[in-house]
Amino acid sequence: MFPTEEFKKLQTPFYYYDTNLLRQTLQEIRENTDGYMHVHYAVKACANPKILSIIAQEGFGADCVSGGEIRAALQAGFPANKIVYAGVGKSDWEIELGLEAGIFAFNVESIPELEIINELALLKGKKARIALRINPNVGAHTHANITTGLAENKFGIDMQDMEHIISLASEMKGVEFIGLHFHIGSQILEMDDFAALARRINELQERLEASGIHAIENINVGGGLGIDYQEPDHNPIPDFHAYFETYRKNLRLRPGQQLHFELGRAIVGQCGTLIARVLYIKSNPIKNFCIVDAGMTDLIRPALYDAYHHIENLTAESSHDYVTYDVVGPICESSDVFIKNYGMPHTRRGDLIAFRSAGAYGEIMASGYNCRTLPQGYTTEDLKA
Ligand SMILES: *Cc1c(COP(=O)(O)O)cnc(C)c1O
Repeated sequence: MFPTEEFKKLQTPFYYYDTNLLRQTLQEIRENTDGYMHVHYAVKACANPKILSIIAQEGFGADCVSGGEIRAALQAGFPANKIVYAGVGKSDWEIELGLEAGIFAFNVESIPELEIINELALLKGKKARIALRINPNVGAHTHANITTGLAENKFGIDMQDMEHIISLASEMKGVEFIGLHFHIGSQILEMDDFAALARRINELQERLEASGIHAIENINVGGGLGIDYQEPDHNPIPDFHAYFETYRKNLRLRPGQQLHFELGRAIVGQCGTLIARVLYIKSNPIKNFCIVDAGMTDLIRPALYDAYHHIENLTAESSHDYVTYDVVGPICESSDVFIKNYGMPHTRRGDLIAFRSAGAYGEIMASGYNCRTLPQGYTTEDLKA
């Protein structure tokens, strides 16, 4: 499955992106969406330029959370009119960049932000298209650090302020209100969580109509669909059918309303793998440590969220002969552990180790802590050339 012979020639650690899988994933999304459904790729999951340009070429939009991401998206070829921009703390230069580019929508998260966008747009003689990010107070069955749709989270506008802000916006000459935006969290595998969001949106739409606010052109339900970290080979592509069906069944759109999605992890998660080399095997009376040359600086999810990544030894001599290891990195932090008590075939110095399902929130979160160099990223095409 992996081009292991090619891997052996490369300096580790590095990311490898299976672009065939990425294309199949995008195709699967296309097959499960209709014309009124628009998918914006959440750039923050992975901004590797080669990955971005494939997603742009395949006709998807981009969901950005910073000016830097807007730049990266434009450079990769995403058209400005398919870019949405969210974030609780948008700087003036970032808003100006979005205005100049003419992005599809600013997803606005507070009244003060709305006022600044209006001011900056008026200074430029432009009209900013804005959607209001509403905090739906819907929980998600996921890690506490990656829920975003609860009242206690910092994101979005409180539901009870919705009508007030819509009427404020409609009086501002520098903004045009184009819709509502929501996002409840990440790595969500329970379709019921998305159904709960859909039902909440139904309530809110009814409430708006009761107060005389009609013609909301766009509903953006955000992203958050999870992937199978346990069995990447069995489920390389998420169940997009179930995901989009959940919204088709539960969300009551009005005639002509457009439905937007912002998927990150579900698009790129499974196509990326972190490849490392084993430096040393060290044993004491209670443990075997498999020390690799990748660390939390290359893939922080295990240290940050206790996340599981399936680990494979790509060059083990025998596939039986299991030994239990703690797989650890070289960084001077006790949390620099990928996994504890993990069964792997007998492993030696020089073996290549694959950390699977690392395409999302992997390379993009790499840091230079300990003065480390950032990992390279290679694609299937790079290794064929
Ligand atoms: C992170 C984020 C997403 C994407 O989340 P995934 O779990 O990767 O799908 C979508 N929308 C917003 C506003 C986000 O912050």
